[in-house]
Amino acid sequence: MERHLGEAKLLPGKTLENFDFEAVPMISKAQVSALCAGDGWLENGANLILFGPPGGGKSHLGSAIGLTLIEKGWRVLFARTSDLVQKLQVARRELALEAALASLERFDLLILDDITYVTKDQAETSVLFELISARYERRSMLITANQPFGEWGKIFPDPAMTLAAVDRLVHHATIFEMNVESYRRRAALERKQHGAGRPATYATPKNVGVPAPRDNQPET
Ligand code: ADP
Ligand code: MG
Repeated sequence: MERHLGEAKLLPGKTLENFDFEAVPMISKAQVSALCAGDGWLENGANLILFGPPGGGKSHLGSAIGLTLIEKGWRVLFARTSDLVQKLQVARRELALEAALASLERFDLLILDDITYVTKDQAETSVLFELISARYERRSMLITANQPFGEWGKIFPDPAMTLAAVDRLVHHATIFEMNVESYRRRAALERKQHGAGRPATYATPKNVGVPAPRDNQPET
């Protein structure tokens, strides 16, 4: 298990124990616990897709699910999607894409964090599509996204490929819509209400609720 934990590159300190399910009332802890057994979906290569605005806990929950699955003996890899796409593009240039995809086969679950942060130049090649196709109905993926499917056009080279990718991903998928306010902001506001600490307005930008531009994410 130590080795599986080491290879997984999970986010440190993000567990189900310290995930506050009350903050995301649309998700039942029982459903997450059932998924964390792994049986029934990881054997079938089914997927889990987490949607929601920044700060809503998608990466935390994804990593925590990964951790629980590793504890049960499954093999997991957590990756920022744009980093993984970068690596696969390098592999493709070196005519080693197939080998790179094959090396991901050992993971029962591949967590693709922030899929919509894949940039336009990365979309011009279709390594992400090839990854999705290679795993379809065989190996599972957990995907987090700030934007709904309708905005995924920029992740793939053309609309037909976007459609084909989404079609494969959702064919056997559980989808969580985590439409909650940023947990950090909420926590700050609660501290303010309880009189502790500085008012949140001092610490957060005026236009909170609008995703802060991060890395390659275009403003929406
Ligand atoms: P997202 O990936 O949706 O942008 P994160 O998972 O990065 O959001 O969450 C932002 C921060 O808030 C992290 O430090 C995370 O641990 C914390 N957080 C978010 N939601 C929760 C929650 N429901 N319970 C506990 N901590 C949370
Ligand atoms: Mg995240």
